[in-house]
Amino acid sequence: MRIAVFDIGGTSIKYAVSDEKANFLLEDSFPTEAFQGGKAVIDKIIQTSMELKKTWEIEGITISSAGQIDNENGVVVYATDNIPGYTGMEVSKLIHSVTGLPVEVENDVNCTALGEHWMGAAQGVKNFICVTIGTGIGGAIFVNGELFTGSNYSAGEVGHINLYPNGKACTCGNNGCYEKYASSLALQEMVEETFNQKINLKLFFENVRSGDQASRQVLERWVDHLTTGLQSIVHTFNPEMIVIGGGISAQGDFLLEYIHDSLFNKLMPNHKSNLSIKMAKYENKANLLGAIKHFYSKM
Ligand SMILES: [Zn+2]
Repeated sequence: MRIAVFDIGGTSIKYAVSDEKANFLLEDSFPTEAFQGGKAVIDKIIQTSMELKKTWEIEGITISSAGQIDNENGVVVYATDNIPGYTGMEVSKLIHSVTGLPVEVENDVNCTALGEHWMGAAQGVKNFICVTIGTGIGGAIFVNGELFTGSNYSAGEVGHINLYPNGKACTCGNNGCYEKYASSLALQEMVEETFNQKINLKLFFENVRSGDQASRQVLERWVDHLTTGLQSIVHTFNPEMIVIGGGISAQGDFLLEYIHDSLFNKLMPNHKSNLSIKMAKYENKANLLGAIKHFYSKM
């Protein structure tokens, strides 16, 4: 059985035609143009799906999406204004009504976790937390081998853990949220404030690696914010593993060492003994894999 799988990202929508073993027969993408609103985004997915139905005879559609998603009914429970009008949208129903195909939708960070559990860093791990670090910070919680989605499909909003009650204003309406201090964007801001010029993160990490003291100090401050949040997460869930996803995971073992050392200094001994931290194996593909896994688990 072939299905179409979509990953709605901030700038592009990646898609593929896949079988149940995640063999991709086709891979492509188109711009999200989120500013045009939820309806326009879903219309483009419908259009592409109709083409794929004709050419590849797909028999289902699965979507990894931003926002808090009712993964049973394929409804957007809540989304920020990054995609205007997306909150409340009945995505599965809309796409099904035109294509006639079964449609599944799951939150993107949950898809990362599902993908990493299926084929990546968290294979065989029953209790883990996936933290994705990008412009914000997302979280997914795996308990006893299954996703924990909360009472209203909204669990895992770790980006809004309160780190500093009198801190920077956040898009959620509170002050001092974790993601204002420990996201990639927050690191970018710290770098620019320190050096008073635009330096992209790739170059910044190169500077740290080549031994620049000032850069290293900025990284250590950022890692300290990051692990202050992870400290609460670990003490709450006592996971076997933390999987770190998002663009920052490209920094690999070099960054992992900083995070490990800083975090383990903040943990109670019994929380360290069987905890490991890994970077996600699939930086870009995990969401597609997770959405595929989600679809077939509903069959
Ligand atoms: Zn917040």
